[in-house]
Amino acid sequence: MKNIILLGPPGAGKGTQADLICELCNIPKISTGDMLREAVASGSDFGKKVSHILDTGGLVSDEIIGSLIEDRLTKPDCVNGSLFDGVPRTLGQATKLDEMGVNFTHVIEISVDDSVIVNRMSGRRVHPGSGKNYHIEYNPPVEEGIDDDTGEPLIQREDDNVESITNRINVYKEQTEPLIDFYKHKDLLKVINGEGKIGVIYKRVVEILNL
Ligand code: AMP
Repeated sequence: MKNIILLGPPGAGKGTQADLICELCNIPKISTGDMLREAVASGSDFGKKVSHILDTGGLVSDEIIGSLIEDRLTKPDCVNGSLFDGVPRTLGQATKLDEMGVNFTHVIEISVDDSVIVNRMSGRRVHPGSGKNYHIEYNPPVEEGIDDDTGEPLIQREDDNVESITNRINVYKEQTEPLIDFYKHKDLLKVINGEGKIGVIYKRVVEILNL
């Protein structure tokens, strides 16, 4: 059973590493960011309600995140564990996950310098269908602007603009960084250096997971 949390600022490479780890461990990625973007794209009332928060880089409420996760964890693919990407983001969410009885086995903080973040995020491209991330310079698709697996077009996220990026970094420092101490006290936290090539960072993660 592996229940893994990837912590780290926006642009740390959580999504990219998450895809690799999930494939290796055969567990699903639970990305509340992907779930919320899907809701926005579907045009549902719920999507309309949260779309402004996503665009400006704020956080949706702990109640909403709590019910998204509770629902997701009932799906059969979670039986061997799950990888939590971008969640929890607040102490309130971490407490809710504890209350749901999720037993975390690993919490990995991917640590990167502030100066790296903006560059990573402004060059990021995403395949909306799968949530797969690329970077125009560091992790480009075979054909520019096209997803390697499906041949579908890649997009730039609405919130990957300088204003929203700055806000997300501030929100991370205020609301999410306290989780580092929270999981340190539970003796679950491992920190890896998130700078360097994707494969090198992946090796660091695999080492920590003892795989
Ligand atoms: P991400 O793809 O993880 O960077 O998330 C994109 C956006 O979705 C964030 O900037 C938030 O607006 C929202 N979001 C994603 N996950 C959470 C969460 N756990 N708590 C609150 N807001 C979230």
